[in-house]
Amino acid sequence: MTEIDLFFVKNPKNYCTKSEMKWHRIFLEITETIANGSHCVSKKVGALIVKNKRIISTGINGTPSGLKNCDEIFGDNYNAEEHHAWSLENEIHAEINCLLVAAREGISVKDSDIYITYSPCLDCCKSIIAAGIKNIYFKLIYEKDTRGLPLLNDSGINLYKVEEDNNA
Ligand SMILES: [Zn+2]
Ligand SMILES: [Zn+2]
Repeated sequence: MTEIDLFFVKNPKNYCTKSEMKWHRIFLEITETIANGSHCVSKKVGALIVKNKRIISTGINGTPSGLKNCDEIFGDNYNAEEHHAWSLENEIHAEINCLLVAAREGISVKDSDIYITYSPCLDCCKSIIAAGIKNIYFKLIYEKDTRGLPLLNDSGINLYKVEEDNNA
């Protein structure tokens, strides 16, 4: 991924008031805390859907509830390739889990914001677009899969990278 490919990733600081920025940081912190609940041995990802400054859904990456967790299958010395193959078949990404929980509970996510610890992969980008999410706030770029990011830009979804807060 080159600099030019990321030209549409915005810094929320340039678009938000100080008070709004404070809320983005708070929600991203909650997202990171929720990510700790993930049972995945490889990556712990969290997602949070917010509407009018209220959390309406949360999600972590992992197997659908009722099925065996990643850390029950793999130990600390897991084989990355083996995990990857198993994960593709068994685990759901945090963003999708977050959207599905809202669907299950009959909560509309239209025009809402999603906070994610990592930028969304191609599949998640497509689902986020289809669900009618307006703004995405994330902490780190998921370097392995940035293919979906231009689709977000084409769909008019704002993509923001929330930087660490160094001076208040
Ligand atoms: Zn896993
Ligand atoms: Zn994904």
